[in-house]
Amino acid sequence: MDFEFSQEHRIFRSSLRDLLEKEIAPIVDEKEKRGGLTKEEALDLYAKLRKVGIGYDPESIEVYFEDPFYYGIASEEISRVWASLNVVIGMSFPVVFVNLASDETKDALGKRLEKNQVIGCLAVTEPEAGSDTSTLKTTAELDGDEYVLNGTKTWISNAPIADVALVAARNKETGAQEMFLVDRINSPFETSELHKIGWRCAPTGEIYFKNCRVPKENALSAMVAKSLSGEAKIPIPEGVTKLYGYMSPLSAIFCMARAGMALMATGISQGCLDASVSYAKQRKQFGRPIGRFQLIQDMLYKMLSITESSRLLAYKALDLVTKGDPKARLMSSLAKGYACEGCVKVAYYAIQIHGALGLSEEYPLERYFRDARMMTIPDGTTEIQKLIVGRELLGKGFSAYV
Ligand SMILES: Cc1cc2nc3c(=O)[nH]c(=O)nc-3n(C[C@H](O)[C@H](O)[C@H](O)COP(=O)(O)OP(=O)(O)OC[C@H]3O[C@@H](n4cnc5c(N)ncnc54)[C@H](O)[C@@H]3O)c2cc1C
Repeated sequence: MDFEFSQEHRIFRSSLRDLLEKEIAPIVDEKEKRGGLTKEEALDLYAKLRKVGIGYDPESIEVYFEDPFYYGIASEEISRVWASLNVVIGMSFPVVFVNLASDETKDALGKRLEKNQVIGCLAVTEPEAGSDTSTLKTTAELDGDEYVLNGTKTWISNAPIADVALVAARNKETGAQEMFLVDRINSPFETSELHKIGWRCAPTGEIYFKNCRVPKENALSAMVAKSLSGEAKIPIPEGVTKLYGYMSPLSAIFCMARAGMALMATGISQGCLDASVSYAKQRKQFGRPIGRFQLIQDMLYKMLSITESSRLLAYKALDLVTKGDPKARLMSSLAKGYACEGCVKVAYYAIQIHGALGLSEEYPLERYFRDARMMTIPDGTTEIQKLIVGRELLGKGFSAYV
């Protein structure tokens, strides 16, 4: 093991946990009953998180996003209390590109960004392109100084409440894939909401681009070039930019995102374990606490071993991202696959230990179970993580899907 948490990381974790317990945990159940957060509700939560340095404004971003360990600790701790909130804040990351975009985009969003009031989304998936992102149908056609986007994106986290979207599209002329930052004020787009079994408060939706005009300065390649020329810095971890030397920018971003998903799963598992330990001590049957039964202890053993292994794999992956080590790709997929499958099992055991109360809507376990079940699909299914690990272990010639 060649990584450890600094004193600052520990202080951050404890102040975040304190904030979550005092200000956020008490409102979760009521919000979850009402479904997807409105933009106002999301921004109100952004304001609460900013108090401990989580956000995309110039001051917070150095804490939350530029050091992958802060991002990881935040994913873990927030998800221990409320998985949906972690999706809403984590999937907003395309906001980091606003300051490198066209003047129109900066003018429209710059002031709100200063106050951490911009919500973002990453739009890659399409109705016919899920795991296979090489078959995108959304097109970008250059017309004068603008690209014109046409196509439909689906299953996009934050879509209904987003101010900006980082959109993957195929260049109509060259056929090459490119990404574009689309700000909703200058380049309006329509969305609709999709409903799902878990992450109920994290709005998910479709996005429809119909002749949506985007300044050519908003192409990701142009924004990265601006950053390389020193015009403005992209506030992303140095390790992620180092990874660009070994893989595409999207794959490098996915290394960090997948380690973050693994920590999100770890947080869900930890929440289930904490509740189960406490319940096992307090609930009595056959004249003794159920925690004294060996079969209950067997479940707690399995829950703890999954939670601890998930955490170790995920922080190991984040450490490799921090160092810009290309092994980050293998390790983040291994961590994502293992921890996300693991939290489904942990949530199952938590319900089992709670008996009928585990199934009750009066207790949070059924929410943890639904949220855990979500984890094995987004950011690449478990099957895709296995294929990435297989290719990284065996070499490119063994890729199962290229
Ligand atoms: C709640 C939620 C939020 C999401 N958020 C976002 C977002 O913010 N942005 C975004 O762009 N996308 C997002 N997605 C989309 C997500 O990334 C895709 O759903 C995912 O990549 C899988 O694509 P699919 O659902 O089309 O499944 P498919 O690709 O159709 O897969 C169906 C099944 O086939 C398996 N399969 C596919 N290919 C292979 C293969 N080669 N070998 C073996 N098995 C295979 C899969 O593992 C799966 O079991 C989100 C999805 C959900 C559910």
